[in-house]
Amino acid sequence: MPRNKFIKSKPKSSIFILSEQGIKKQNFIDDFKQYYVHLLGRDENCRSPYYAGVALSQAIRDRLMERWKATHKTYKESGCRRAYYLSMEYLMGRTLSNAMLNLGITDTVTQAMYDLGIEMEELIASEQDAGLGNGGLGRLAACFMDRCATLQLPVIGYGLRYEYGMFTQIIVNGEQVEKPDHWLRHGNVWEIERLEYSHRIKFGGQTKFQTNAKGKQRVLWVDTHDVLAVPFDTPIPGYKNGTVNTLRLWKAVATEDFNLDEFNAGEYAEAVTAKIAAENITMVLYPNDANENGKELRLRQQYFLASASLQDVIAHWTDVNGKNFEKFIEKNCFQLNDTHPSIAVAELMRLLVDEQHLSWDEAWHITRSTMAYTNHTLLPEALEKWPVSLMQRLLPRLMQIIFEINAFFMAEVSAHWPGDLERLRRMSIIEEGDQQQVRMAHLAIVGSFSVNGVAQLHSQLLQQKLFTDFFALWPEKFNNKTNGVTPRRWLAACNPELANLITETIGNRWVTDLSELKKLESYAENPHFRKRWRAIKQAAKQRMIDYKKEKSEVELNLNVDALFDVQVKRIHEYKRQLLNILHVIHLYICIKKGNFEERVPRCVLIGGKAAPGYAMAKKIIKLIHNVSQVINSDPEVGDKLVLLFLPDYRVSAMEKICPGADLHEQISTAGKEASGTGNMKFMMNGAITIGTLDGANIEIREEVGDENFFLFGLTEAEIEARRDHYDPISIIDQDEDLQQVMHLLKSGHFNQFEPGIFNDLINSITSPFDPWMTIADFRSYIDVQKSVENAYRDQDHWTKMSILNCANSGKFSSDRTLLEYNREIWKLKPQSAKLK
Ligand SMILES: *Cc1c(COP(=O)(O)O)cnc(C)c1O
Repeated sequence: MPRNKFIKSKPKSSIFILSEQGIKKQNFIDDFKQYYVHLLGRDENCRSPYYAGVALSQAIRDRLMERWKATHKTYKESGCRRAYYLSMEYLMGRTLSNAMLNLGITDTVTQAMYDLGIEMEELIASEQDAGLGNGGLGRLAACFMDRCATLQLPVIGYGLRYEYGMFTQIIVNGEQVEKPDHWLRHGNVWEIERLEYSHRIKFGGQTKFQTNAKGKQRVLWVDTHDVLAVPFDTPIPGYKNGTVNTLRLWKAVATEDFNLDEFNAGEYAEAVTAKIAAENITMVLYPNDANENGKELRLRQQYFLASASLQDVIAHWTDVNGKNFEKFIEKNCFQLNDTHPSIAVAELMRLLVDEQHLSWDEAWHITRSTMAYTNHTLLPEALEKWPVSLMQRLLPRLMQIIFEINAFFMAEVSAHWPGDLERLRRMSIIEEGDQQQVRMAHLAIVGSFSVNGVAQLHSQLLQQKLFTDFFALWPEKFNNKTNGVTPRRWLAACNPELANLITETIGNRWVTDLSELKKLESYAENPHFRKRWRAIKQAAKQRMIDYKKEKSEVELNLNVDALFDVQVKRIHEYKRQLLNILHVIHLYICIKKGNFEERVPRCVLIGGKAAPGYAMAKKIIKLIHNVSQVINSDPEVGDKLVLLFLPDYRVSAMEKICPGADLHEQISTAGKEASGTGNMKFMMNGAITIGTLDGANIEIREEVGDENFFLFGLTEAEIEARRDHYDPISIIDQDEDLQQVMHLLKSGHFNQFEPGIFNDLINSITSPFDPWMTIADFRSYIDVQKSVENAYRDQDHWTKMSILNCANSGKFSSDRTLLEYNREIWKLKPQSAKLK
């Protein structure tokens, strides 16, 4: 704590300040002290921002409680239709500042803390990120939760409460080292355990047929090893609207009667081991952003999520409606976030047929009318498959159901294309081969009424390529929902200076209706407005510099006037951080040759985590460090060029980074990035994109106009046409700049004491089979980077482009995305919660 008054201090003012939500400052101070002293047992001698943060969060949570209950009651009493979002990941980040913003109490609370001698900034920074996700997909789920509450839609988020979230990345000798993220170690004030809503999840065992008195056959799944799913609820407040929705995360807990026999037989240690095994299910988030590697524990996690969530929904249904499922379709809708939870299709069938005793046809009609599937990737290796043998062992009843679904489905396909065996083979849910596999994406499509991609190009490629047979059979199922991000977190909260300028200029309606930003367009020519805009950007850049300097042991030549060129995202070959480095090396060569007069100083910032098992991605991180070491320590380079790696990229890091970017790199191989959402956050904060025609870039460029976007590279169609006769060696031979870059890399200039360590990287980009075709886009990338500098030199014009990017980012609000999901898929009516 900066000032030494803390708990002892008297508040400066005894007048109650009423905020918009009727929250009184003095009450707040009293509650805060109460929690700090009595609940946490701290006094004025303990000046810990962490415990102060916990006490404050408790006080805020209390204020959410009434609204939370009221929202719950409103939904219950109206009997409204609801949607359930099933996702293996929620990358929530920090909660405190977002909760204050959405409750409209930021100023009141900041003042209250100030009166106590506490810096709000410090409290905010002491909160751990909730890192229950890998990247874009998990962050999307988190943004969706925010906007469902803001739009007052009755949506429950279902996920897993991983004990360990996304690993913490530290760098040792230029290499990534993973540290476990035990984010729950000190507890989590935002969650509430709800033991009373636990469910039993079955694994293993076998199935038995049983005929009842009426001669009807039933399947029993017996001798199972059960695990309890215990829910933990987190409140999700809407933006200043009184609604508080629920995110329900499941924790695996051993059942109490667990292995009683073993206990009795004196095998105490064995029984405890088995208990731990059961609880392993929700121990750790798998840190792979694109490919899952068929681990049994991962399948357990997926089934655990699907079964617990569906049982929860059905238990709620039968509480109100008994065994009558007539209106179930009318009232319920499930959204599957990627193929990860798609076992839900088979699980809903099991619950309806085996446990609720509906007929197969009734159950299938319900399943197919309530499930909707979002696909997030075109990378074939990321489409999950599970060995039939594994499923038979782990989930025998589910495997039977999948075979049965497939038999009916194959009949449907044959009826449509008689005798087309090749097509049957392609479309089947079961892939034949040495080892039979279940294609989870096919199960999801067959069992859903809606299949969507996450940007126009992506949805189009799903229809034309990946799922073309399915599109031919059911064109009406397919649709597009371009992603969005929440402007509350990604502009209002993370860039308050810019947000204030915008509000001062066009009013505050943009916070919930981002298309309002369009009004900024008419200020793009206004010199006074531009000046203020630029000053805010410069201040954000300066904050990044100060932060970096504080963290760095070596002297950094950071210059606030340099072009801040940022690429932060997971490290993956398709995202092409390598292309970025080739450009940096090219600039370095220009400087060393004295060819830099016309150019602009540039600070290149790269950040991101590599999947721990992804050797190539880890090598890319190492290369960035080695190149950066050579460049940053060369006095001849000075501040003309700086390359920095930002360790441990995560949500709270992104909140600091995106206000300070001038240029944002979204340079994936065309046709590979489903959407991208980093690009949207940067656009909102006035960065200009350099990018390929990939994912949401295409729509960003459409909105902002081609003169305010730096386009380069082959299109998706050109990439595919080029693939057969791709010859990177001859491209290198014909391009002097590229030749020099490759020569320097191969010469070992960046790894003088580590011979050969980058050979794999060099071989991969010079191979004619390089799937990401990095070399093919080098020339146009370099050329466009040069025009970026020309544009940047005219600061006035650059500022105008920056304003126009922000002004045209309205489409990329998650509010717009959600309204589309709701209009075309969920069809929910907003419910306004009433506080008594
Ligand atoms: C937005 C975001 C992402 C997604 O970034 P892309 O550039 O779309 O890959 C990943 N991680 C974090 C922490 C984010 O905030």
